[in-house]
Amino acid sequence: MLPPPPLPLRCPSSISDKPRRDAVATFRLTTGHDCLAAHLHRLGIFTEPFCPLCDSGEVMERDHLLRCGALQGLTDVSIYREARALLG
Ligand SMILES: [Zn+2]
Repeated sequence: MLPPPPLPLRCPSSISDKPRRDAVATFRLTTGHDCLAAHLHRLGIFTEPFCPLCDSGEVMERDHLLRCGALQGLTDVSIYREARALLG
């Protein structure tokens, strides 16, 4: 059996200081184990990795959330929660 992969070094050290739901969203966005279309596509849950919330045709991953026309005016963590809620 292989050892578990190390946690990414880019994980913010302040993550434990956040409220739980913000810490969970930050951890998921940092590790890529989120509920966005790109990751759900890799898992075989979504048929396409593209953002279903806008017409951009971009892959829906962390960086896209900041540009997504359907999620303007929100902070990065609240964008993730809103996108997740809109995906159902
Ligand atoms: Zn979008």
